Amino acid sequence: MTGFISKRALGIAPSPTLAISAKAKQMKADGIDVVSFGAGEPDFDTPEFIKAACIASLSAGFTKYTPVPGTAGLKKAIVNKLKRDNGLDYGPENVLVSVGAKHSLYNAILATVDPGDEVIIPAPYWVSYPEIVKMAGGIPVYITADETTGFCVTPEQIKNALTPKTKMLVLNSPSNPTGAVYPRETLEAIARVCEEANILVLSDEIYEKIIYGDTKHVSIASLGEKIKKLTITVNGHSKAYSMTGWRLGYAAADADLIKAMSRIQGHSTSNATSFVQAAGEAALNADQSFLEDMRKAFEERRDYICKRLNAVKGISCLVPDGAFYVLPNVSALYGKRYDKWTVGSSDDLCSYLLEYALVACVAGSGFGAPDNIRLSYATGMDSIKKGLDRIEEAVGKLE
Ligand SMILES: *Cc1c(COP(=O)(O)O)cnc(C)c1O
Repeated sequence: MTGFISKRALGIAPSPTLAISAKAKQMKADGIDVVSFGAGEPDFDTPEFIKAACIASLSAGFTKYTPVPGTAGLKKAIVNKLKRDNGLDYGPENVLVSVGAKHSLYNAILATVDPGDEVIIPAPYWVSYPEIVKMAGGIPVYITADETTGFCVTPEQIKNALTPKTKMLVLNSPSNPTGAVYPRETLEAIARVCEEANILVLSDEIYEKIIYGDTKHVSIASLGEKIKKLTITVNGHSKAYSMTGWRLGYAAADADLIKAMSRIQGHSTSNATSFVQAAGEAALNADQSFLEDMRKAFEERRDYICKRLNAVKGISCLVPDGAFYVLPNVSALYGKRYDKWTVGSSDDLCSYLLEYALVACVAGSGFGAPDNIRLSYATGMDSIKKGLDRIEEAVGKLE
């Protein structure tokens, strides 16, 4: 049936993170004791009060269509949240509720990027950005950051990537897969570059609440009226409230942009699920101190995993300031071998670790980071310890 598949669909790469998790899942199903560092979601359950709000809404019969951009109650909760946490002054006309943050990003790109438009994507990047840009007919333009700048691209790199076709810059801080958090001064300089070039900024802030030490999350839209006008801020409930399966996210931007995004959503998914919106409203309106337990647990795991990885010869790992991933550099192992395995790339190393050591990691190649592998620490401390013991043993065998 391949003759029937559109060029659009043919141009989309399958998710690289799914291939290894599928293999790891199959091995687990076959009774093999695999430790997985592949997870892209918190391992905690959704807090009970959020579930209760959903059940109450459902029982009360809140089961019909809602307005496409979201219920008045949830939009108000988002407006209050943006003010409280991000210093952003928006009204309900500036907010669009969607079926996950990924859907918000999709709407934002589809509503702004024309065929041939260029979108600057800092690498290492989250795998969906380039694919969504391609779906819109846009052209991803990559600029690469490495360990020397803490995985943050510089304002100069952005400036150098600008052409008359540049429409948008994608920012993701805290970042998946690097865990990097952009400092305020860097964001200020980036804002000035974007203002001068008059390009949009798509700011994916989904990991805002998972941040360590004295690091502060800064929304680029809060750095002045001009940059606020150019920025589409995206956030959602998946990572902060352990609500990945619920599918709830939102965007905040200039009212004209939000209207254009709503038109696209209105003819595709319509509203996010009614009673999920009620739960999302309860999550945002609650006292947020309960988030601290999860944040602390992640921080403890981060410290442990970085210490262990850096103790392995041939692996070096920056200590990230946010999210729940580490992206150690493993390029010193390239060219080494053990038994039937030769490690020539991040993909080879991940195959070796899975087949020999029964540990699932994700190759950095899919994120634009060929020298690295990604480990998620959204898994219990016992598995983290077991997995690191195995990695240490397996890497020690390579020569
Ligand atoms: C998980 C993730 C998302 C998607 O979140 P959903 O709200 O579940 O769609 C968006 N951006 C990044 C960087 C992510 O890691």
